[in-house]
Amino acid sequence: MNLVFLGPPGSGKGTQAIRVAEKLNIVHLSTGDMLREAVKNGTVLGKRAEAFMKKGELVPDELIIGMIEAKVTSGDLSRGFILDGFPRTIPQAESLKEMFDNNDIALDKAVLLTVSDEEIIKRIKGRAEQEGRADDTEDVARNRLDVYRKQTAPIVDFYRKESILTEVRGEDTMDNVFKAIIKTLSK
Ligand code: AMP
Repeated sequence: MNLVFLGPPGSGKGTQAIRVAEKLNIVHLSTGDMLREAVKNGTVLGKRAEAFMKKGELVPDELIIGMIEAKVTSGDLSRGFILDGFPRTIPQAESLKEMFDNNDIALDKAVLLTVSDEEIIKRIKGRAEQEGRADDTEDVARNRLDVYRKQTAPIVDFYRKESILTEVRGEDTMDNVFKAIIKTLSK
């Protein structure tokens, strides 16, 4: 199964993507994780991406698209995958569609986790305190949410038009959200 997970920062998207990928025995691919790894290793990509990430802004499309293209063309995704955190802009969604068309890959579903703004800010602040993530201070959290609304939310319509969008309410316990996702994927 080939999936894209969508949702605002703090929606639980990453946690659920890991669990669902494990359950379905498919690859979990998080662009956030890939970028954090690049920053940690001090690669050229990491050095260019770091400043954007610290501010809660999006890393430029061409850097991200190149990173994903390497995965798509390597055949790593052949047993099924969840893309977590990509695409995040309309140009990324369009590039992905082109890459998939060129490599005979079809997306089965785009899963959107819905959570209110109020709940998101609360969750991100909580996470900042627990994990000390450099990009999780309250100001940065608000900026990330703003960036999501402006740049990422439009791709929800992109997938709705492709008739593969499925929405799951993310304001519930982790187990209930997980069950709801598995249920919607079996439909
Ligand atoms: P995440 O862990 O998915 O919340 O990503 C952390 C940060 O990495 C984001 O705030 C962005 O700065 C950057 N990032 C991750 N994925 C993308 C993407 N698809 N496009 C642009 N920037 C991204």
